[in-house]
Amino acid sequence: MDESLLVENSVQQARQLYKDYREKLMSESVFVTLLKNYSSEIERSSRLMVQAGLPDFCGYCATSIPGGGCCGEHIATWYDPHLLLLNMLMGIEIQDKSYYKDSCRFLGRNGCTLKARYHFCVNYLCQRIYEKFDKKAIESLRAQSGKELFACWQLELFLADYFKKNGRD
Ligand code: SF4
Repeated sequence: MDESLLVENSVQQARQLYKDYREKLMSESVFVTLLKNYSSEIERSSRLMVQAGLPDFCGYCATSIPGGGCCGEHIATWYDPHLLLLNMLMGIEIQDKSYYKDSCRFLGRNGCTLKARYHFCVNYLCQRIYEKFDKKAIESLRAQSGKELFACWQLELFLADYFKKNGRD
């Protein structure tokens, strides 16, 4: 399947899951607790990124380099409906298309529009970051990224099991 169709397919599936299951999922106390924990871990990661000065640096690269720098078009194909659903359940509205031609479908005018991100997007730091930024700040960020991704993985397991039981894998 064409890559852009693949991504649209995942977005449509996520929107349908959101429509069909938002209320049911948000009445599951275990799920709500995991989602709150995940959201907190993402916010901790964001604070560390801001403290280190990364958002401006990465945002410039993603939005000023043709093809989105690290935020290339192909990366959006790695986003499955469950991860997109988690974004929607945390209040993110999935934009209808990429703001920049030939860049990731989820790249907005000022940077990434998602909150729940795939591990590559959370973990990847380019060589220039390692050269330019404080080593301790990078170490703290990497440790925090692990916590964020672990919280995400717990939710992904929950959703896989939940949809299997509900005949929607
Ligand atoms: S999902 Fe966000 S961080 Fe990942 S490539 Fe797309 S715009 Fe960049």
